[in-house]
Amino acid sequence: MTDSYTRFANGGLKPLVKKLGLPQPAILRRHQPGSPLTVGPVLVVSDAASAADADAVATVLTGWELDVRRSPELGERERFGAVVVVLTGAQRPEDVSAPVLAAGGTLRRLAGNGRVVTVARAPEAGDAPALAATRAGVDGIVRSLGKELRGGATANGVQLTGGAAVDSPSAVATLRFFLSAKSAYVDGQILPVGPSEASGDIDWERPLEGKVAVVTGAARGIGAAIARTMARDGARVVVVDVPAAGEALAGVANAVNGVALQLDVTADDAADKILAAAAPLGGLGVVVHNAGITRDKLLANMKADRWDPVVAVNLAAQLRINERLLAAGVAGLLAAGVAGLRIVSLASTSGIAGNKGQTNYAYSKAGVIGQTAATAGIVAETGGTANAVAPGFIETEMTARMPFVTRNVASMLPSLAQGGKPVDIAEAICFLASDAARGVNGQTLRVCGQHLVGK
Ligand code: NAD
Repeated sequence: MTDSYTRFANGGLKPLVKKLGLPQPAILRRHQPGSPLTVGPVLVVSDAASAADADAVATVLTGWELDVRRSPELGERERFGAVVVVLTGAQRPEDVSAPVLAAGGTLRRLAGNGRVVTVARAPEAGDAPALAATRAGVDGIVRSLGKELRGGATANGVQLTGGAAVDSPSAVATLRFFLSAKSAYVDGQILPVGPSEASGDIDWERPLEGKVAVVTGAARGIGAAIARTMARDGARVVVVDVPAAGEALAGVANAVNGVALQLDVTADDAADKILAAAAPLGGLGVVVHNAGITRDKLLANMKADRWDPVVAVNLAAQLRINERLLAAGVAGLLAAGVAGLRIVSLASTSGIAGNKGQTNYAYSKAGVIGQTAATAGIVAETGGTANAVAPGFIETEMTARMPFVTRNVASMLPSLAQGGKPVDIAEAICFLASDAARGVNGQTLRVCGQHLVGK
């Protein structure tokens, strides 16, 4: 239904939708292998102190064969595909004025599905107040601009931490993700990126080549999309779901030329079964904790039969599997043959902002955000990462069960005025699972079309 509204609002009735002031969701451009990275030339602007970093960014973009411009002049029919605002050297609030206003002056000529990406530094402990203010302020620009842009355009920010260089592999990979159609439903987000060492050429079309990925809850919905997208990106995939979903699971496994593992993730031996299934394919490289359930009820009416299963599937199972993998810390990881392990867990915007009727679910999902931040430090010691993705309203069977009006209102609330697709979550997870993203660790990335809720 929400998808049909998007089509309706973009068809012959577009003028009526506009006249009535109804939400105007754009048709989002999603990744197709081989399609151009951006929909037009890319403008790079910066403040004076960030000029060298802006040059480095421009060099990277040119290396991707993008049409990079350093001044806002355009041909009569041209539209910018993206504007990159480099603010890494800004020291005082007044420094950001010129580049941000220069970017603003181009926004009327930003193409549909265009991108604005800031590249700035995170405020760090010990920063002088003026520097901290300058850096923290970028967050406000990105979040506001996300709400102003139209036509499927988005605003996001690469936030360098720990002295990461602007052209370090993970900074570059994050910039590319935000510029690309893979981030179609990511809007108004700032992603912190730490230092990362170079490790050979990156195959941007198959960034997961050679990796073995286990995806839980993969018989349908978001999990099935993750499996398909990981296979597209080159991974060998083990798909996991409960025995009752065995037939659908087998269908997904066949479609991705992968392996089906019928398993309840809450089982005591789940981690051992996962390790055993991955071993013949070359050993576990990526775990995606996607299996999840809802059992909504106001807390006043909540009983253990609704609270306990939600916490068991959504949070305790992730912890138990991770604990088995991390049993003896670094030694345990090495013994299990999982150095460089990438863990990506499904959180939810409900875990950030809360949601009526979902104290159980929001507890589990806020818990996922907490376990991710804590796990990150442990896996980092062997080159691994742990991150989470927080979906907003995604059109799946889980959300199809919501009442009609709630469902349609929820899908209109984000800045992008529509629900997301399972593939939008899958693209973010594939990015976080790739080696190029190894400088991103302990983070929760919202993929929510800039949903109104939360921070
Ligand atoms: P879904 O209900 O369509 O699919 C979930 C899958 O997990 C099902 O195939 C189910 O059989 C499986 N599963 C459930 N319990 C399991 C268990 N104990 N062991 C193994 N598999 C199990 O859900 P979805 O919408 O695709 O959501 C996937 C994930 O994304 C969940 O973690 C969910 O909380 C999260 N999420 C979804 C949305 C959304 O809008 N759809 C929003 C935020 C977060």
